[in-house]
Amino acid sequence: MDLKKIMEAGLQAIESADVLETLNDVRIEFLSKKGALTKAMGQMKDLSNEEKPLFGKRVNEVKEALETALKAKVATLEALKLKEDMQRDAIDVTLPGTKFVMGAQNPLVLIQREIETFFQEMGYKVVEGDEVELDLYNFERANIPHDHPAREMQDTFYIDEHTLLRTHTTAIQTRALEAYAPSVPVKVICPGKVYRRDDDDATHSHQFVQVEGLVVGHGITLADLKGTLSLFAKRMFGETRVIRFRPSYFQFTEPSVEVDVSCHICDGKGCNVCKHTGWIEILGAGMVHPQVLRDAGYEDPKLTGFAFGAGAERIAMLKYGIEDIRSFYINDKRFIEQFKRYE
Ligand SMILES: [Zn+2]
Repeated sequence: MDLKKIMEAGLQAIESADVLETLNDVRIEFLSKKGALTKAMGQMKDLSNEEKPLFGKRVNEVKEALETALKAKVATLEALKLKEDMQRDAIDVTLPGTKFVMGAQNPLVLIQREIETFFQEMGYKVVEGDEVELDLYNFERANIPHDHPAREMQDTFYIDEHTLLRTHTTAIQTRALEAYAPSVPVKVICPGKVYRRDDDDATHSHQFVQVEGLVVGHGITLADLKGTLSLFAKRMFGETRVIRFRPSYFQFTEPSVEVDVSCHICDGKGCNVCKHTGWIEILGAGMVHPQVLRDAGYEDPKLTGFAFGAGAERIAMLKYGIEDIRSFYINDKRFIEQFKRYE
């Protein structure tokens, strides 16, 4: 094949190629070591010495022309392919995205955090402790004598004679007092799981969450306790809530009180939630028993303190209208997801 025909055939093949693979075939056919141009070079040996340089020059010209055309066509096809790829893989940013399924906080956690935040804002320190506790801190230091019914096997989960699952977060308080003594002021909030031997039903659970608070210092009175708990009741159940104290009895405190809050459902008029009394019992409290302070290492008889304890479940049940305490523990997503709006 003469050079002119090779060039025409080559340019034609390049021109008509519509994919990059075809162009590669064209390159092999015309420009490779076994291609048409190399074969044409074979004719050189039959030429005279005068003709040889001219022929060589002509071969180079054809080679350059084909390479240039090939390069241009490769660029064109690549651009075309890129455009097609982009059109095919185009992302419509206006389409709705994939929704991530987010979990929700258990209402018990929400309530515990809300209580902690309230007291932290008032300068309290959050203190936690171990769920496995010594009899010493759970009972003895809380002024609960050996013959007290709470110590009975049927009420408490004992691990051995001296070790048990704490029955109240008072165990955290007695440890905190010992750690602080003899310094004051003490201002701690103690949240945590506690355990009692109880048959589970709608209002009882063998495990629940308590939040107890403790303040010890000079000149602390029952009025300070009432003021603190009054603010707490307003924060948890609404600004118009009021509280009342009823005399009660706890080993840890003297005097002791039960604290009622005016019903947030009926505003004190009487309804099913408050059993038509207008009041709902929310926690127990009192002035820290002097014996508790002495046992912890406080020798100054002028020191006083107050303490209070609430069940997080009870507050959450009242606040969110939950009727069965077991709902907090069974991890039913349908139940928990209802509380997303409170997070
Ligand atoms: Zn009511």
